[in-house]
Amino acid sequence: MTKLPGEGGAPLFPFLLTSLYSGSSGNAWLLRCGPRAFLIDAGKSARTLTRALAACGMEPEELDGVFVTHDHGDHVSALPVFSARVPCPIYATEETAATLTASGVFRDRIVLLPAGESVRVGEVTVTSYPTPHDAPGSVCYRFSSDEDACGVATDVGCVTDGVLACLLGCRVVGVESNHDEERLRSGPYPYPLKRRILSPEGHLSNAACAALLRRLAEAGAEEVILAHLSRENNTPALALAAAREALADFPLVSVRAAAPDTPVEAAPLCRR
Ligand SMILES: [Zn+2]
Ligand SMILES: [Zn+2]
Repeated sequence: MTKLPGEGGAPLFPFLLTSLYSGSSGNAWLLRCGPRAFLIDAGKSARTLTRALAACGMEPEELDGVFVTHDHGDHVSALPVFSARVPCPIYATEETAATLTASGVFRDRIVLLPAGESVRVGEVTVTSYPTPHDAPGSVCYRFSSDEDACGVATDVGCVTDGVLACLLGCRVVGVESNHDEERLRSGPYPYPLKRRILSPEGHLSNAACAALLRRLAEAGAEEVILAHLSRENNTPALALAAAREALADFPLVSVRAAAPDTPVEAAPLCRR
């Protein structure tokens, strides 16, 4: 159960979520909890990923698990090389694992974690949930300890029961705020691509993300990172404005926008 301020104080080992880089050029998250460290997705190159970890004071060897959401290149392109450098398991669904092995990741490095199932890593339980996205076996992840919870969900075309179950009640949240719908509709993307992004298996708009955030704030979310922002169809200012407007009744919720090339750390409002 998440401890909220005033209900027994802040967690002793809070989840510290960092977006290492985010967007269609590549995605990776670092999540730390006490002595544990997890990677969620591994886009870009192994070299770029290793450098981003180093900027956060981490070596790849210190990771306790790599959790892969789906097989799109912006989430897995570092893995064929990176997986050979890290001793920890690579967790993925069967569908994602098939693509990873075809791309050169050794099968014995992958631990299957089907949607809806959990794995315990030390004091942290990690549960995967199915996501509505145009990649077979696509999932999001919730990390829980006795005193804290963090959920990360990107590449979701809409907010399904699975996405809600992943994020609801989490104190720390990383969630997609991909595009401003008006910008996307009037922008330069070809029509089939616009239709793909706007579909229920595409990407989450600022407005849909903002509506979701209100529900998450009511359920105790305190630290939010908006992620997978489109370079062409969004700006950090637009995404943040939509989120903050929806969270007008929750002035103590910290909201930050992930960046395409630099780490952004979730943090309580008082530390900003
Ligand atoms: Zn993506
Ligand atoms: Zn994707």
